[in-house]
Amino acid sequence: MSATDTATNVILLGPPGAGKGTQARILMDKFGLVQLSTGDLLRGAVAAGTDAGKAAKAVMEAGGLVSDDIVIAIVNDRLDEPDVASGVIFDGFPRTVAQAGALDKLLTDKGMSLDVVISMEVDDAAMVERISGRYTCAKCGEGYHDTHKKPAKEGVCDSCGGTEFKRRADDNAETVAERLKAYHAETAPLIAYYSDSGKLKAIDAMADINLVSQSMADALGNG
Ligand code: AMP
Repeated sequence: MSATDTATNVILLGPPGAGKGTQARILMDKFGLVQLSTGDLLRGAVAAGTDAGKAAKAVMEAGGLVSDDIVIAIVNDRLDEPDVASGVIFDGFPRTVAQAGALDKLLTDKGMSLDVVISMEVDDAAMVERISGRYTCAKCGEGYHDTHKKPAKEGVCDSCGGTEFKRRADDNAETVAERLKAYHAETAPLIAYYSDSGKLKAIDAMADINLVSQSMADALGNG
């Protein structure tokens, strides 16, 4: 695949902390794909105080899953924006079998198709440590980690020079445990769902960020 080929639509599947957001940003830069993160869209809705945001806020704070109806409606709206023609990286969606079925239907209705589902395989025990150390640049969203990925110059974003950073409210040990539980109960069954469709490619997501992104490129047929 290259940026000039027909649009590629890809799902990144994996538990919280697997590096979906980080890798989605790399794929955006490399291949011009659009990141569709339902977590980001929901946090935007909460911040804007929309009806969907009001309904989602408490569930998100507790580490549970927001209702399928709300999430599917948000994805439906986002897929009507013209930039998705470049190809979409679904990050954090679908998270339930019902959402996966709805996505199949949405894509068909909109004349789009799903090309590949990348399952990011990780060691559960490492996820809590990964998540509790992570933060992002408040200006450009570049991701960092207390131990694994510090900015080259302390307190200054490598990407945009921003000096303000933020941590997600739900990145605390208690909420992370709930989010992992929700992943295993509701989202892990999607591995079988997509394996049956022949679109699933599994990669080792415990490796170094650059190695993981190379595996991603390979999975997209652009190794
Ligand atoms: P994320 O940024 O993907 O880790 O998502 C943060 C939180 O938003 C999750 O813990 C859920 O509460 C909610 N969320 C994000 N995506 C979905 C989804 N596809 N279905 C249900 N809830 C979601």
